[in-house]
Parts: sequence; structure tokens; C-alpha cells
Amino acid sequence: MDALQALLKDIATLPSLPAIAMRIIQEVKKDKSSMNELARVISVDPALTTKILRIANSSFYALPYKVESIDKAVNILGLEALKNIALSFVIVRGFKRNKVDEFDHELFWKRSITAAVSAEMIASKMGLTRADTFVTPLLMDVGVFVMYLSRPDDYLKVVNKKKISRLKTHEAEREVFGFDHMDVGSEILKEWGIPEEIYRPISYHHKREECPAELSDIVDVLMLADLSSSVYHGNKSIEKFAELREHLQKKLKITEEEVRDFTDSIAEKTVEILSSFEIDPGDMKPYSRILEEANEELGKLNLSYEQLVMELKQAQQMAEKLAVEAWEAQERLRELAVTDGLTNLYNHRYFQDLIEKELPRVERYNHVLSIIMLDIDHFKSINDTYGHPQGDIVLRTIADIFQETVRKPDTVARYGGEEFVIVLPETDIKGAVVLAERLRKLVEKREIKLEEKTITITISLGVTTYETSKGRKSKAEIMYAADKALYNSKKTGRNKLSILV
Ligand code: GH3
Ligand code: MG
Ligand code: MG
Repeated sequence: MDALQALLKDIATLPSLPAIAMRIIQEVKKDKSSMNELARVISVDPALTTKILRIANSSFYALPYKVESIDKAVNILGLEALKNIALSFVIVRGFKRNKVDEFDHELFWKRSITAAVSAEMIASKMGLTRADTFVTPLLMDVGVFVMYLSRPDDYLKVVNKKKISRLKTHEAEREVFGFDHMDVGSEILKEWGIPEEIYRPISYHHKREECPAELSDIVDVLMLADLSSSVYHGNKSIEKFAELREHLQKKLKITEEEVRDFTDSIAEKTVEILSSFEIDPGDMKPYSRILEEANEELGKLNLSYEQLVMELKQAQQMAEKLAVEAWEAQERLRELAVTDGLTNLYNHRYFQDLIEKELPRVERYNHVLSIIMLDIDHFKSINDTYGHPQGDIVLRTIADIFQETVRKPDTVARYGGEEFVIVLPETDIKGAVVLAERLRKLVEKREIKLEEKTITITISLGVTTYETSKGRKSKAEIMYAADKALYNSKKTGRNKLSILV
């Protein structure tokens, strides 16, 4: 408590209570103050008189008739209530005059007054008849104000600590100052001569579990009032409301809907009282309205969120489409690079790459691979007789026959000119010969329609097989064998196949 005492000694900068506040406090402290005496004190201050009459006539007290004088107000509201209202006014007014940089006085009092209104309403619902249920919550956070005033830099540390942690305000204060606003508030109020009934509950308003039994009701009220004020002025409205609702339902034994109505009416009454205190209520509105607007905003947000997702999806689809198109374009280029333009078969280069890839596979897995080399017989004479373009038709027709006849794993390529090659993976010499013979016959039988005339042609074939079990061969050796076999077919009559393994 040394630190607290030091802080309290150091608060010369604090505004002292205005004289009228001191007089009202004196009246409040009297066990039996006379109505006339209080009325006289208040009447000295016309502004205060006006405000008290406004309060007395507000929906807060919901009187069936108009109160026109302080005397009447005293009669109707009761001496104690009036004292407290008066006290509240003068304290708020006194502090409001003292502007401190960065400290949001307006918000501070708005919060305090909302808490005061809430407390008054909650206490009345609880059947708690105390005259100080307005002024006590109004003053419960005065310690915050005092702490800020005496050590503003440290108090900003508290504010930041609270922001970055889950600490409550009084916990953050304890970490920075070693004491909290409950300690400071109750001490300063004591110093000011505020009655014990007011400052004692304040010293417990965030530590209900420590409060003496006789204070538990008023401390409950303060705690709930503080929550209620946070619903309206904090940044965790929904969270705080859920907490408040739970407590109110338990404490007041009311339904969820009644809690909502009750919370709404707190806002309505607060707005009215705030203006009596000459504090701008701003856009303070009933909680259900806040919730409605939040839901609308949420709706808008959802919509734009959906739009966002949709746009993202579209962008994604576009990106995918572009990627597919790029891949397709690349594939087309690759195809073009390996395709023979005339026959649409693979070209010579592709064949070379393929055979280079296939041979190691054959070697690794002891597989077998056959090659058929095919060459059109006397093709030169077709060109010579019908013209080069007609020769192209023949080449295309032959290519189609080959392509249509082979199985899927087989690859037909144009080796060059009117020479073709077929790679037959997993095919031994017997299988290769069967296919070669079939192709020979198909070509032989095919009638090829040219411009002037329908012709038939023949092909010569050379077949070879590579089986690792019968010794390793290089690509050149395999191709030499195939070529040699083909040459043999040409040499020995054409329209036939020869084998060389
Ligand atoms: P052989 O029976 O001995 O194979 O005789 P050939 O006439 O078929 O063989 P040769 O190698 O003497 O002639 C091949 C001809 O094929 C020569 C060339 O003009 C022609 N040729 C090569 N490429 C093409 C082509 O793309 N289109 C056309 N129309 N003819 C081509
Ligand atoms: Mg030829
Ligand atoms: Mg040739």
C-alpha cells in the first residue's frame, strides 16, 4: 500500500471537489439531514436545480405528474435518493471541467453514468432498496481517472497490456502499479469524505469473492452495472452481453427475452439521463438494435465474403483454364516437334528417342523388342507417273494402314522418304513376323484411289528382334539388322519380309 499512499499524496493535480459537492456530501453524511437544508444547498445552484428536476421528471422515475420544485422532488424521490443524485451531478460536473490530455472524459462519464443507470434499474429489479445505487457505480471507476491523472505514462502501459493480453483492467493495473483502481478509488473517495456505504463496495467491485457478506448484494449490482456499461461502451459487446444475460437470468430469474428488453430499456433510460448530465449520448442505442445492425453488417460481410470466394473461385478456374491451355499448347508443340506433317506419324527424331529409351528397359527387365522396317516398292515410279502430290496420297494411305493395324503399345514412325519403322515392345520375332505379314497383305490388297486412277502397291519388310538373352546389341546394330533384312527383301523380289536377328 506504500505505492498507493505515495500516489495519493502525489495527486495535488487532482481537482478538488467543488464546494457544493462538499456541502452535499456533508448533508449525505448526516444521519438525519433536514429536507429543507438539502433543498437550500441545491437551490443555490440553479443549474443543479434544473438538472435534478429533469431527472425527477424523466422516465427514470416514471412519475405520473410533473415535479416542479426541489422541495417536491425531495418528497417524491426521498431525501437519500435526492442527495445522491445531487452528489452525482456535482462530481461529474467538477471532473468534467478538468480536461486532461488523451483522457476521454466524455467516454469515462458516459460509461459511469450507464453503469449508474443500470445499477439503479438492476437494484430495483432485485428489490434492493438503497439510496446510493446510482452514485456508487457512478464513482466506482474514479480510481482509473485518478491513476491516469497522476501517472499517465504508466496508465497507458496498463491500456496496452490489456490490449495484448487477456488481463482485466484491474489485473493489468496491478501488474504496472502494484495496486488497482478499486484501491485508489475507495481511498480517494474516503479522502473526499464520501460515506463508507459508497466507497466500501467500490473497493470490491471486481473481486466479489472477497467481499464481506453484507456487501454482496451491492457488489453484485456494481459488477452487473459494469458489465451492462461494457455492453454499450466496450468493444466486446456481444461477449459482454452473453455474460450479462447469464447473470441477469440467474439473479433476476427472468427469461432471455426479458433480459433483452431490460437491457434495451437501460439504453433508453441512459440516453435520457446522459443529456441531464450534459453528456452527448452519441449513437447509443438499445442492444437489440445494435445486434440487428451488427447482423445486417454481418449479412453484408457474408455477401461480400461469398462474392470474394466466388471471385477467387473464378480466378482459380481461370488460372486452371490458362494452365490447361498452356499445357495443351505445350503438348501441341511437343507433338508438332515429334510428328511427321505428311503422315501424322511420329517422325524420325521421335523414333530415335524412343528406341534409346526402350533399349535400356529391355536390358534391365530381360524383355524383348522387335523392329519392322518397311519400304514402298518402286515408289519412285508412282511419283514419276502420277506426280509428287499423288505420291503423298499413297504415303498417307500406307501410314494409315500401319497406324490402324498396330496395337496400342506399338509405335509407327516415318523413318524417312517412303520408309517406315514400327517398334514393337514385348514382341518376339514370331509376333513381329505375324504383324509384318499382315501389313504386307493389307497394303498389297489396298486399292488406292488417285486422281486419274486407282492403284495398288506393295511394300518390302525387314524384321529384327532384340532379346538380351541372346546377347547385347547396340541401337546401330539393331537398326543395321532391320535394314539388312529389308534390303534382303528388296533384293529377293520385293513384296515380302525378311528376318535378321
Ligand atoms: P525400291 O522398291 O527399291 O524401294 O524403289 P523406290 O523407288 O521405292 O526407292 P527409291 O529410294 O529409289 O525412291 C524413293 C522415292 O520416294 C524417291 C523420292 O522422291 C520419294 N519420296 C521420298 N519422300 C517422299 C515424299 O514425302 N513424298 C513423295 N511423294 N515422294 C517421296
Ligand atoms: Mg522404295
Ligand atoms: Mg527407299
